[in-house]
Amino acid sequence: MQNKLWDVAIIGGGPAGYSAALYCVRAGYSTLVIEMLSAGGQMATTSAIENYPGFVESVDGFELAMTMQKQAEKFGSETLYAQVTSVSLADFIKTLETTEGPVQAKTVILATGADPRPLGLPEENALRGRGVGYCATCDGGFYRGKTVAVVGGGNSAAEDALTLSKLCKQVYLIHRRDHLSATRSYLAPLEKADNITFVWNKEVTELLHEEKLNGLTLTDTITKEQSHLDVDGLFVAIGRLPNTWLVKDQLALDPQGYIIADETTRTSLPGVFAIGDVRQKPLRQVVTAVADGATASKFVEEYLNLAE
Ligand code: NAP
Repeated sequence: MQNKLWDVAIIGGGPAGYSAALYCVRAGYSTLVIEMLSAGGQMATTSAIENYPGFVESVDGFELAMTMQKQAEKFGSETLYAQVTSVSLADFIKTLETTEGPVQAKTVILATGADPRPLGLPEENALRGRGVGYCATCDGGFYRGKTVAVVGGGNSAAEDALTLSKLCKQVYLIHRRDHLSATRSYLAPLEKADNITFVWNKEVTELLHEEKLNGLTLTDTITKEQSHLDVDGLFVAIGRLPNTWLVKDQLALDPQGYIIADETTRTSLPGVFAIGDVRQKPLRQVVTAVADGATASKFVEEYLNLAE
């Protein structure tokens, strides 16, 4: 694997990465996916995906990831299990240093994803999937008819609160300021929804639980007074952390750290593409990640046709 010049090296084996692999290998390009642990990325941690088309019953994220990997490998895509430690992307032949040795490729597709920014509270990670969630579009369905809270004040929090208000009995929108920074278009629908209550100037400082989350301790940012809120679920929407440390000095990033790449998935360097959650985009979902993977193959092909 390491003694070969690959047409395409894909960093990250999530849905975007393996979709790109499927399309590239079927287009006749030698294709290597470099994955640190196992296929799936963030998707693999979701036990029930209800909004990926084609599955009437929900599909397990890990199972879907394995199927995507098998499908790409059926056509000849290969996987190297290694961590990429540094990249050199400027020349026609690009070099990726990995824990299993260097990899060289004519094109590189970055599919390294983004992780939700956590609140950083004790037991937050343990309660993930047991009351604490980071994606209302993905997991909101589990809270139908229940009481939930969303924490955050930006567009994600506003959008999550609106999504959840259509499913849940009551939604508390908790923000540490006295106004949202979300765009104006969200404000009227939020105020109109009769099951959304704004909770201003409060921080979530404790996650209360038995087996699952059952309440929150809130601390007032001005008076420091503490209060309790009973909830069945908490959605954390305080921004995301794109996994761009490998390329931050080589590619153009937006102010939030996402790789700037439009619908063509082309980045600021020729022969380098960005797909899935790591790319600047309006909706980060499995379905938009796999679409990016397919699109990248078209522009890999265009690039290699012109370059060779
Ligand atoms: P964001 O705009 O960075 O907002 C993060 C929010 O979380 C802020 O209100 C921030 O409050 C709060 N926050 C940060 N850390 C916190 C903490 N530790 N505890 C409590 N609150 C905390 O993030 P985002 O809403 O995820 O949006 C990210 C980007 O995606 C934005 O560019 C947004 O426009 C875009 N987006 C677009 C759409 C759309 O166009 N449909 C939808 C969703 C997201 P402070 O202000 O106090 O820091």
